[in-house]
Amino acid sequence: MAEIPAIKRRLIQEGVDVIDVGAGDADFPPPEAAVEALSCAARDPAMSRYAFQLGLPAFREAAAAYMLRRFGVRVDPYTQLHPLLGSKEGIAHLAMALLGSGDVAIVPEPGYAVYEGGTVLAGAEPYRCALRPRTGFLLELEELPADVVRRARLVYLNYPNNPTAAVATRAYLEGTVAFCREHDIVIAYDNPYCEITFDDYVAPSIFEIEGAWDVAMEFHSLSKTFCMTGWRLGWAVGRSEVIAALARVKNYVDTGAFLAIQAAGAAVLPQAESLARDYVAGFKERRDAMLPVLRAQGFEPETPEATMYLWVPLPEGVASAAFARRALEEAGVVTLAGSGFGAGGEGFFRIALTVAAPRLVEAAERLGRVLAAV
Ligand code: PLP
Repeated sequence: MAEIPAIKRRLIQEGVDVIDVGAGDADFPPPEAAVEALSCAARDPAMSRYAFQLGLPAFREAAAAYMLRRFGVRVDPYTQLHPLLGSKEGIAHLAMALLGSGDVAIVPEPGYAVYEGGTVLAGAEPYRCALRPRTGFLLELEELPADVVRRARLVYLNYPNNPTAAVATRAYLEGTVAFCREHDIVIAYDNPYCEITFDDYVAPSIFEIEGAWDVAMEFHSLSKTFCMTGWRLGWAVGRSEVIAALARVKNYVDTGAFLAIQAAGAAVLPQAESLARDYVAGFKERRDAMLPVLRAQGFEPETPEATMYLWVPLPEGVASAAFARRALEEAGVVTLAGSGFGAGGEGFFRIALTVAAPRLVEAAERLGRVLAAV
């Protein structure tokens, strides 16, 4: 994955018409409310000062109001919620707040690379656990060896899931919360795709599950829902002791997100659901345009109920890294190889619905030609 930007640049210089459906970084513009609030706040000198860990009270309060309105979850905006410079930052620093040498964190594979990276940077040990199609890509905690469960302090859970686009049932989440309570394992519930859901599916917060408050931290982001990836803004929710531990780590590495960006977040969140509806309609149109063409080309992807991703199986014996490299070099299509999300992702590649429908159709046709040649 690390080589992709350089290869893409070379191909563009050579005149190749590259279609990039690699990173989860859609080309829709951010909400007008965000742009307005940012430009207005940028003119206020007070917004150029350090944010510190407190940040902008209006952002904390807007995030807490969203949690209550959207999920029925009541949180204190000052002790049970914390602003982040994107959720990635908080996920990585949570490991430093909670883990030490000898501790284990359970890391789903395929999964977002920060789970394993954060664990390793914290000096702890990742235990990789495969997500398989057979179980709907749900992490099976009951299957873990007793010794791993005994040493585990943290488990990363992410539904709607990147990269598989899987969603979790309430029954699954209830079982997982019960298991983690019994074994004293913190759940880092990574929920950046909770608004990108299709048809009738509505994604929950982990805190809708009884008992979750005792064991879970949840991470939210403005990146995906509002197409604000570069703005770097998110928040964490959890018990005040764990939030305080996270804030203590952050205090040594950052001084808070730019206050004007927090002002933009505070302007967006009161309209979160209606803004999300429009973006989701765009993602759905893209999903529905691309899937039939991919299928006509011989691929067999499931129809995702959530996220901006298509997780596409490859024929037996076709290595995902080799396929993704050929797709890029021979067809000018940037995808992500499943193996880039950990060995458990082998046999698949990921498409992100980040460009307009006609370009996705073109990408599907080009990928079909690569498939025919492997
Ligand atoms: N979690 C998951 C599962 C993701 O896919 C991403 C981004 O790709 C993030 C967290 C981080 O998002 P951000 O740091 O932009 O909030």
